[in-house]
Amino acid sequence: MRPEAVARLAEVGDQLLGTSHRQPRVKDQVRRLQEGLARLFGLPDGYEVLLAVGGATAFWEAAAFGLVQQRSRHYVFGEFSSKFAAATAAAPWLETPDVVKADAGTVPSASPAEGCDVQAFTHNETSTGVMQQPQRVDDALVLVDATSGAGGLPVDLSQTDVYYFSLQKGFASEGGLVAAIVSPAAAERIAGIAESDRYVPTFLDLATALDNSRKHQTYNTPSVSTVFLAAEQVDWMNDTFGGLDGVVAEQRRKAEAIYGWAEARDWASPFVVDPDARSLVVATIDLDEAVSADQVNAVLRANGVLDTDAYRKLGRNQLRVGMFPAVDTADVEAYTACVDHIVEKLA
Ligand SMILES: *Cc1c(COP(=O)(O)O)cnc(C)c1O
Repeated sequence: MRPEAVARLAEVGDQLLGTSHRQPRVKDQVRRLQEGLARLFGLPDGYEVLLAVGGATAFWEAAAFGLVQQRSRHYVFGEFSSKFAAATAAAPWLETPDVVKADAGTVPSASPAEGCDVQAFTHNETSTGVMQQPQRVDDALVLVDATSGAGGLPVDLSQTDVYYFSLQKGFASEGGLVAAIVSPAAAERIAGIAESDRYVPTFLDLATALDNSRKHQTYNTPSVSTVFLAAEQVDWMNDTFGGLDGVVAEQRRKAEAIYGWAEARDWASPFVVDPDARSLVVATIDLDEAVSADQVNAVLRANGVLDTDAYRKLGRNQLRVGMFPAVDTADVEAYTACVDHIVEKLA
Protein backbone atom coordinates (compact mmCIF):
# COMPACT_ATOMS: atom_id res chain seq x y z
CA MET A 1 0.00 0.00 0.00
CA ARG A 2 1.29 3.46 -0.76
CA PRO A 3 2.21 5.26 2.50
CA GLU A 4 0.67 8.47 1.07
CA ALA A 5 -2.74 6.77 0.86
CA VAL A 6 -2.52 5.48 4.42
CA ALA A 7 -1.54 8.98 5.61
CA ARG A 8 -4.54 10.43 3.75
CA LEU A 9 -6.82 7.96 5.52
CA ALA A 10 -5.45 9.09 8.87
CA GLU A 11 -6.03 12.72 7.85
CA VAL A 12 -9.66 12.26 6.83
CA GLY A 13 -10.35 9.60 9.45
CA ASP A 14 -12.22 11.80 11.89
CA GLN A 15 -14.49 13.03 9.08
CA LEU A 16 -15.23 9.63 7.61
CA LEU A 17 -14.60 6.58 9.77
CA GLY A 18 -17.45 5.63 12.07
CA THR A 19 -19.99 7.37 9.84
CA SER A 20 -23.09 5.52 8.62
CA HIS A 21 -22.74 4.31 5.05
CA ARG A 22 -26.06 5.96 4.23
CA GLN A 23 -24.53 9.38 4.96
CA PRO A 24 -23.60 11.61 1.99
CA ARG A 25 -19.90 11.77 2.88
CA VAL A 26 -19.59 7.99 2.60
CA LYS A 27 -21.77 7.80 -0.51
CA ASP A 28 -19.50 10.49 -2.02
CA GLN A 29 -16.52 8.15 -1.55
CA VAL A 30 -18.43 5.25 -3.11
CA ARG A 31 -19.30 7.48 -6.07
CA ARG A 32 -15.69 8.68 -6.28
CA LEU A 33 -14.51 5.06 -6.49
CA GLN A 34 -17.12 4.17 -9.13
CA GLU A 35 -16.30 7.23 -11.25
CA GLY A 36 -12.56 6.69 -10.84
CA LEU A 37 -12.86 3.08 -12.04
CA ALA A 38 -15.03 4.19 -14.97
CA ARG A 39 -12.32 6.68 -15.96
CA LEU A 40 -9.45 4.24 -15.47
CA PHE A 41 -11.05 1.55 -17.62
CA GLY A 42 -12.86 3.83 -20.07
CA LEU A 43 -16.15 1.95 -19.74
CA PRO A 44 -17.97 1.00 -22.95
CA ASP A 45 -21.47 2.49 -23.35
CA GLY A 46 -24.01 1.14 -20.89
CA TYR A 47 -21.48 -0.62 -18.65
CA GLU A 48 -21.73 0.19 -14.92
CA VAL A 49 -19.72 -0.36 -11.74
CA LEU A 50 -21.33 -2.61 -9.15
CA LEU A 51 -19.96 -2.75 -5.60
CA ALA A 52 -20.84 -5.45 -3.07
CA VAL A 53 -19.63 -6.61 0.30
CA GLY A 54 -17.87 -9.98 0.51
CA GLY A 55 -14.99 -9.88 -1.97
CA ALA A 56 -14.37 -12.12 -4.96
CA THR A 57 -15.05 -15.30 -3.01
CA ALA A 58 -18.58 -14.14 -2.17
CA PHE A 59 -18.98 -13.01 -5.77
CA TRP A 60 -18.45 -16.59 -7.03
CA GLU A 61 -21.45 -17.64 -4.94
CA ALA A 62 -23.44 -14.60 -6.09
CA ALA A 63 -22.62 -15.45 -9.71
CA ALA A 64 -23.69 -19.07 -9.23
CA PHE A 65 -27.03 -17.73 -7.99
CA GLY A 66 -27.48 -14.72 -10.20
CA LEU A 67 -25.49 -15.01 -13.44
CA VAL A 68 -25.31 -18.67 -14.44
CA GLN A 69 -28.59 -19.67 -16.02
CA GLN A 70 -27.94 -23.38 -16.41
CA ARG A 71 -24.34 -24.31 -17.03
CA SER A 72 -20.96 -22.60 -16.96
CA ARG A 73 -17.67 -23.21 -18.75
CA HIS A 74 -14.59 -22.72 -16.53
CA TYR A 75 -10.91 -22.47 -17.44
CA VAL A 76 -8.99 -23.94 -14.53
CA PHE A 77 -5.23 -23.42 -14.32
CA GLY A 78 -4.54 -22.93 -10.64
CA GLU A 79 -6.03 -22.44 -7.22
CA PHE A 80 -8.28 -19.42 -7.76
CA SER A 81 -9.76 -20.47 -11.09
CA SER A 82 -10.64 -23.85 -9.55
CA LYS A 83 -12.66 -22.22 -6.78
CA PHE A 84 -15.37 -20.66 -8.94
CA ALA A 85 -15.71 -24.01 -10.74
CA ALA A 86 -16.15 -25.67 -7.34
CA ALA A 87 -18.87 -23.15 -6.41
CA THR A 88 -20.98 -23.86 -9.51
CA ALA A 89 -20.34 -27.62 -9.17
CA ALA A 90 -21.80 -27.47 -5.65
CA ALA A 91 -24.94 -25.55 -6.70
CA PRO A 92 -27.80 -28.07 -7.00
CA TRP A 93 -29.84 -25.77 -9.29
CA LEU A 94 -27.10 -25.77 -11.96
CA GLU A 95 -25.84 -28.46 -14.28
CA THR A 96 -22.37 -29.86 -13.65
CA PRO A 97 -19.96 -27.23 -14.99
CA ASP A 98 -17.88 -27.81 -18.11
CA VAL A 99 -14.27 -27.54 -16.94
CA VAL A 100 -11.26 -27.10 -19.22
CA LYS A 101 -8.04 -27.64 -17.30
CA ALA A 102 -4.45 -26.71 -18.02
CA ASP A 103 -1.29 -27.59 -16.10
CA ALA A 104 0.04 -25.10 -13.56
CA GLY A 105 2.22 -22.58 -15.35
CA THR A 106 0.29 -22.80 -18.61
CA VAL A 107 -2.84 -21.08 -19.91
CA PRO A 108 -5.88 -22.97 -21.23
CA SER A 109 -7.18 -21.86 -24.62
CA ALA A 110 -10.74 -20.64 -24.85
CA SER A 111 -13.23 -22.39 -27.12
CA PRO A 112 -16.99 -22.34 -27.72
CA ALA A 113 -18.93 -24.35 -25.12
CA GLU A 114 -22.25 -25.70 -26.34
CA GLY A 115 -25.00 -25.56 -23.74
CA CYS A 116 -23.08 -23.13 -21.52
CA ASP A 117 -24.41 -19.64 -20.83
CA VAL A 118 -21.33 -18.39 -18.95
CA GLN A 119 -17.65 -18.51 -19.89
CA ALA A 120 -15.50 -18.03 -16.76
CA PHE A 121 -12.01 -16.62 -17.21
CA THR A 122 -9.32 -15.64 -14.71
CA HIS A 123 -7.36 -12.61 -15.86
CA ASN A 124 -4.40 -13.41 -13.65
CA GLU A 125 -4.01 -16.79 -11.91
CA THR A 126 -2.39 -15.49 -8.74
CA SER A 127 -1.19 -18.92 -7.62
CA THR A 128 0.98 -19.49 -10.72
CA GLY A 129 1.65 -16.07 -12.27
CA VAL A 130 -0.16 -16.88 -15.54
CA MET A 131 -2.29 -14.37 -17.47
CA GLN A 132 -5.34 -15.32 -19.50
CA GLN A 133 -6.79 -12.78 -21.92
CA PRO A 134 -10.59 -12.88 -21.73
CA GLN A 135 -12.47 -12.95 -25.03
CA ARG A 136 -15.83 -13.74 -26.55
CA VAL A 137 -15.84 -17.17 -28.14
CA ASP A 138 -19.59 -17.81 -28.30
CA ASP A 139 -22.88 -16.24 -27.09
CA ALA A 140 -22.25 -16.95 -23.39
CA LEU A 141 -21.71 -14.14 -20.90
CA VAL A 142 -17.99 -13.61 -20.29
CA LEU A 143 -17.23 -13.48 -16.53
CA VAL A 144 -13.70 -12.56 -15.54
CA ASP A 145 -12.14 -12.96 -12.11
CA ALA A 146 -9.72 -10.05 -12.32
CA THR A 147 -8.94 -9.85 -8.61
CA SER A 148 -5.18 -9.70 -9.04
CA GLY A 149 -5.12 -8.60 -12.68
CA ALA A 150 -7.42 -5.59 -12.69
CA GLY A 151 -5.66 -2.27 -12.94
CA GLY A 152 -2.37 -3.85 -14.00
CA LEU A 153 -3.20 -5.90 -17.10
CA PRO A 154 -4.57 -4.67 -20.43
CA VAL A 155 -8.23 -5.50 -21.04
CA ASP A 156 -10.81 -4.91 -23.74
CA LEU A 157 -13.98 -4.64 -21.66
CA SER A 158 -16.18 -4.97 -24.74
CA GLN A 159 -15.02 -8.62 -24.73
CA THR A 160 -16.34 -9.09 -21.19
CA ASP A 161 -19.71 -8.95 -19.42
CA VAL A 162 -18.69 -9.05 -15.78
CA TYR A 163 -15.14 -8.02 -14.92
CA TYR A 164 -14.92 -8.41 -11.14
CA PHE A 165 -12.21 -7.94 -8.55
CA SER A 166 -11.50 -7.49 -4.87
CA LEU A 167 -9.59 -4.33 -3.99
CA GLN A 168 -6.68 -5.59 -1.86
CA LYS A 169 -4.37 -6.48 -4.75
CA GLY A 170 -4.06 -4.21 -7.79
CA PHE A 171 -5.92 -1.43 -5.99
CA ALA A 172 -3.71 -1.42 -2.88
CA SER A 173 -6.68 -1.30 -0.53
CA GLU A 174 -8.09 -3.82 1.92
CA GLY A 175 -10.33 -6.85 1.58
CA GLY A 176 -14.04 -7.39 1.92
CA LEU A 177 -15.43 -5.51 -1.05
CA VAL A 178 -15.87 -6.55 -4.68
CA ALA A 179 -16.16 -4.26 -7.68
CA ALA A 180 -17.73 -5.63 -10.86
CA ILE A 181 -17.91 -3.88 -14.23
CA VAL A 182 -21.20 -5.10 -15.63
CA SER A 183 -22.36 -5.01 -19.27
CA PRO A 184 -25.97 -4.34 -20.30
CA ALA A 185 -26.30 -8.02 -21.27
CA ALA A 186 -25.16 -9.10 -17.82
CA ALA A 187 -27.55 -6.63 -16.16
CA GLU A 188 -30.33 -8.17 -18.23
CA ARG A 189 -29.36 -11.71 -17.13
CA ILE A 190 -29.29 -10.55 -13.49
CA ALA A 191 -32.77 -9.03 -13.81
CA GLY A 192 -34.14 -12.11 -15.56
CA ILE A 193 -32.92 -14.53 -12.89
CA ALA A 194 -34.14 -12.18 -10.12
CA GLU A 195 -37.64 -12.34 -11.63
CA SER A 196 -37.56 -16.13 -11.95
CA ASP A 197 -38.57 -18.44 -9.13
CA ARG A 198 -34.97 -19.37 -8.24
CA TYR A 199 -34.27 -18.83 -4.53
CA VAL A 200 -31.48 -16.28 -4.04
CA PRO A 201 -30.27 -15.15 -0.58
CA THR A 202 -30.59 -11.37 -0.45
CA PHE A 203 -26.96 -10.88 0.62
CA LEU A 204 -25.88 -12.62 -2.61
CA ASP A 205 -28.58 -11.14 -4.84
CA LEU A 206 -26.90 -9.23 -7.66
CA ALA A 207 -30.12 -7.40 -8.58
CA THR A 208 -30.14 -5.93 -5.05
CA ALA A 209 -26.42 -5.13 -5.33
CA LEU A 210 -26.91 -3.40 -8.68
CA ASP A 211 -29.86 -1.42 -7.37
CA ASN A 212 -27.79 -0.18 -4.40
CA SER A 213 -24.73 0.53 -6.56
CA ARG A 214 -26.79 2.81 -8.78
CA LYS A 215 -27.46 4.87 -5.61
CA HIS A 216 -23.75 4.81 -4.63
CA GLN A 217 -24.41 2.43 -1.76
CA THR A 218 -23.90 -1.18 -0.85
CA TYR A 219 -26.70 -3.41 0.43
CA ASN A 220 -25.02 -3.83 3.80
CA THR A 221 -22.26 -1.93 5.57
CA PRO A 222 -18.91 -1.88 3.77
CA SER A 223 -15.51 -1.15 5.27
CA VAL A 224 -15.27 2.60 4.68
CA SER A 225 -11.47 2.48 4.79
CA THR A 226 -11.50 -0.10 1.97
CA VAL A 227 -13.64 2.22 -0.15
CA PHE A 228 -11.49 5.25 0.64
CA LEU A 229 -8.11 3.58 0.08
CA ALA A 230 -9.28 2.11 -3.24
CA ALA A 231 -10.59 5.51 -4.37
CA GLU A 232 -7.22 7.08 -3.45
CA GLN A 233 -5.36 4.43 -5.43
CA VAL A 234 -7.60 4.75 -8.50
CA ASP A 235 -7.23 8.55 -8.50
CA TRP A 236 -3.46 8.14 -8.15
CA MET A 237 -3.40 5.73 -11.10
CA ASN A 238 -5.45 8.12 -13.24
CA ASP A 239 -3.47 11.21 -12.23
CA THR A 240 -0.02 9.60 -12.47
CA PHE A 241 -0.42 7.41 -15.54
CA GLY A 242 -3.39 8.97 -17.35
CA GLY A 243 -5.43 5.75 -17.32
CA LEU A 244 -4.96 2.02 -17.72
CA ASP A 245 -2.63 2.11 -20.77
CA GLY A 246 -0.11 4.17 -18.83
CA VAL A 247 -0.27 1.83 -15.84
CA VAL A 248 0.19 -1.21 -18.07
CA ALA A 249 3.25 0.36 -19.75
CA GLU A 250 4.85 0.70 -16.31
CA GLN A 251 3.87 -2.90 -15.46
CA ARG A 252 5.72 -4.06 -18.57
CA ARG A 253 8.88 -2.38 -17.26
CA LYS A 254 8.53 -4.26 -13.96
CA ALA A 255 7.99 -7.54 -15.80
CA GLU A 256 11.04 -6.96 -18.00
CA ALA A 257 13.09 -6.17 -14.91
CA ILE A 258 12.25 -9.37 -13.06
CA TYR A 259 11.96 -11.89 -15.89
CA GLY A 260 15.03 -10.46 -17.63
CA TRP A 261 16.93 -10.74 -14.37
CA ALA A 262 15.88 -14.39 -13.90
CA GLU A 263 16.80 -15.30 -17.46
CA ALA A 264 20.25 -13.80 -16.99
CA ARG A 265 20.99 -16.00 -13.92
CA ASP A 266 21.97 -19.63 -14.34
CA TRP A 267 20.28 -20.48 -10.99
CA ALA A 268 16.91 -18.84 -11.77
CA SER A 269 14.31 -18.98 -14.55
CA PRO A 270 10.74 -17.79 -15.12
CA PHE A 271 8.31 -20.59 -14.14
CA VAL A 272 5.93 -19.69 -16.99
CA VAL A 273 7.57 -20.88 -20.20
CA ASP A 274 5.42 -18.93 -22.67
CA PRO A 275 6.59 -15.28 -22.47
CA ASP A 276 3.11 -14.04 -23.53
CA ALA A 277 1.48 -15.80 -20.58
CA ARG A 278 3.92 -14.40 -17.99
CA SER A 279 2.03 -12.15 -15.60
CA LEU A 280 2.75 -8.44 -15.48
CA VAL A 281 1.56 -8.32 -11.85
CA VAL A 282 2.67 -11.56 -10.13
CA ALA A 283 6.05 -12.99 -11.16
CA THR A 284 6.91 -16.62 -10.42
CA ILE A 285 10.61 -17.44 -10.56
CA ASP A 286 11.90 -21.00 -10.17
CA LEU A 287 15.24 -21.45 -8.45
CA ASP A 288 17.81 -24.13 -9.09
CA GLU A 289 17.86 -27.02 -6.56
CA ALA A 290 21.18 -25.73 -5.24
CA VAL A 291 19.46 -22.54 -4.02
CA SER A 292 16.66 -22.97 -1.47
CA ALA A 293 13.80 -20.53 -2.00
CA ASP A 294 12.75 -21.10 1.63
CA GLN A 295 16.18 -20.04 2.79
CA VAL A 296 16.23 -17.00 0.50
CA ASN A 297 12.77 -15.99 1.74
CA ALA A 298 13.79 -16.48 5.37
CA VAL A 299 16.73 -14.09 4.93
CA LEU A 300 14.54 -11.61 3.05
CA ARG A 301 11.92 -11.75 5.79
CA ALA A 302 14.49 -11.22 8.54
CA ASN A 303 15.47 -8.05 6.67
CA GLY A 304 11.97 -6.69 6.16
CA VAL A 305 11.33 -7.93 2.62
CA LEU A 306 8.12 -9.87 3.05
CA ASP A 307 5.88 -12.41 1.40
CA THR A 308 7.64 -13.56 -1.73
CA ASP A 309 6.92 -17.21 -0.97
CA ALA A 310 5.64 -19.58 -3.62
CA TYR A 311 2.05 -20.73 -3.51
CA ARG A 312 2.32 -23.60 -1.03
CA LYS A 313 0.13 -26.10 -2.89
CA LEU A 314 2.27 -25.69 -6.00
CA GLY A 315 5.16 -27.25 -4.06
CA ARG A 316 7.95 -25.65 -6.10
CA ASN A 317 11.31 -24.16 -5.19
CA GLN A 318 10.05 -20.77 -6.25
CA LEU A 319 9.85 -17.06 -5.52
CA ARG A 320 6.49 -15.39 -6.18
CA VAL A 321 6.61 -11.62 -6.29
CA GLY A 322 3.65 -9.25 -6.20
CA MET A 323 4.46 -6.27 -8.40
CA PHE A 324 1.10 -4.54 -8.42
CA PRO A 325 0.74 -0.93 -9.60
CA ALA A 326 1.50 0.47 -6.12
CA VAL A 327 4.93 -1.23 -6.16
CA ASP A 328 7.67 0.99 -7.62
CA THR A 329 9.70 -0.37 -10.52
CA ALA A 330 12.79 0.63 -8.54
CA ASP A 331 11.62 -1.68 -5.73
CA VAL A 332 11.36 -4.62 -8.13
CA GLU A 333 14.94 -3.92 -9.22
CA ALA A 334 16.05 -3.56 -5.59
CA TYR A 335 14.39 -6.91 -4.85
CA THR A 336 16.42 -8.68 -7.54
CA ALA A 337 19.61 -7.08 -6.18
CA CYS A 338 18.72 -8.36 -2.69
CA VAL A 339 18.22 -11.90 -3.99
CA ASP A 340 21.54 -11.73 -5.88
CA HIS A 341 23.27 -10.67 -2.68
CA ILE A 342 21.68 -13.43 -0.59
CA VAL A 343 22.44 -16.16 -3.13
CA GLU A 344 26.06 -15.00 -3.39
CA LYS A 345 26.49 -15.03 0.41
CA LEU A 346 24.79 -18.40 0.82
CA ALA A 347 27.02 -20.07 -1.81
C1 LIG B 1 -7.04 -13.16 -4.04
C2 LIG B 1 -7.88 -13.72 -5.12
C3 LIG B 1 -9.21 -14.11 -4.90
C4 LIG B 1 -9.85 -14.07 -3.54
O1 LIG B 1 -10.16 -12.78 -3.15
P1 LIG B 1 -10.97 -12.52 -1.79
O2 LIG B 1 -11.12 -11.05 -1.74
O3 LIG B 1 -10.12 -13.08 -0.68
O4 LIG B 1 -12.26 -13.25 -1.90
C5 LIG B 1 -9.94 -14.55 -5.97
N1 LIG B 1 -9.42 -14.63 -7.20
C6 LIG B 1 -8.15 -14.28 -7.46
C7 LIG B 1 -7.62 -14.38 -8.85
C8 LIG B 1 -7.34 -13.80 -6.43
O5 LIG B 1 -6.08 -13.45 -6.68
